[in-house]
Amino acid sequence: GDVLLELRDVSVSYGSGADAVRAVDRVSLAVTAGATMAIIGESGCGKSSLAKAICGLVPIEAGEMTFAGQAIGTGRDPAELAGRLGVQIVLQDPTAGLDPRWPIWRSVAESRRRFSESRPEARRRAVDALSEVGIGPHMADRRPAELSGGQRQRVTIARAIAAEPRLIVLDEAVSALDVSVRNEILVLLQGLKQRHGLTFVFITHDISVVTQCATDATVLYLGRAVETGTAPEVLRGRSHPYTRALLSAVPTLTGDLRDRVRMTGELPSLADPPSGCRFHTRCPFAQPVCSDVEPDLVIRAGGHPAACHFVGELRPAASDAVAEPS
Ligand code: SF4
Ligand code: MG
Repeated sequence: GDVLLELRDVSVSYGSGADAVRAVDRVSLAVTAGATMAIIGESGCGKSSLAKAICGLVPIEAGEMTFAGQAIGTGRDPAELAGRLGVQIVLQDPTAGLDPRWPIWRSVAESRRRFSESRPEARRRAVDALSEVGIGPHMADRRPAELSGGQRQRVTIARAIAAEPRLIVLDEAVSALDVSVRNEILVLLQGLKQRHGLTFVFITHDISVVTQCATDATVLYLGRAVETGTAPEVLRGRSHPYTRALLSAVPTLTGDLRDRVRMTGELPSLADPPSGCRFHTRCPFAQPVCSDVEPDLVIRAGGHPAACHFVGELRPAASDAVAEPS
């Protein structure tokens, strides 16, 4: 498909001078129309900053971002521009975006402001959007406090849908929900995606979400993209040691214990990232070059892009020797 969203060497920083933290550091990725791109990483690796940058909620410091061929992330009001072009965001905490004093239909209708329509029309559209997410018309006048957490998340999804978006950024949108509600919401999102021809950027630390719904995946570590590819390519866990370590933390994905890669130590601070390959302080495969030279995100050995000096050369995990069903 066509590339809908493209980032080229995008950086996002907070603070200035000695206090500056570069939360997103020269990240490049491409999201094709109709894809669900998962952005994976531990908390504190810059995922939310990347989400906000895509939606124009924080300015980009360097690099280029395009949406449907148009430059975004810059200009006087990047959030207004992103909204007008059809970018919406759904956050982990549904209460954050809902006014507690308002009936929910009104919060949903807010996202249609740019259409400048009459109040009855806005309400009708909002009620339609709520119905699409399983919140019936009889509930449209309720306040957020009268709903469950799962229902509130449905309302924020309705608000995104009511804006007639092309792309929705979901920042840990299902992370706070218990498993059964989470699965319902993932199924709902999948249906909305089909019906409206949407593209998703799914920000998550939860690999099981990625296995359920992603078509593509990008792994972030301390603000850097370390691997990007189709979801099957990334989830096979044959490329970047950090990805392999993340996958190893999900027991159901690595039935073979010999395949596991264990990280050592804590996540370093984004404010003071390690030299060279940022993962070298925790990587079981680290060599002397790793602390000196930062690996680029490039394709090696016919695979997909991964930022590791030794991709393709790392001692294969024992299970690689086992024939896979084809
Ligand atoms: Fe590990 Fe070195 Fe590869 Fe970084 S470049 S992931 S430290 S082997
Ligand atoms: Mg976050």
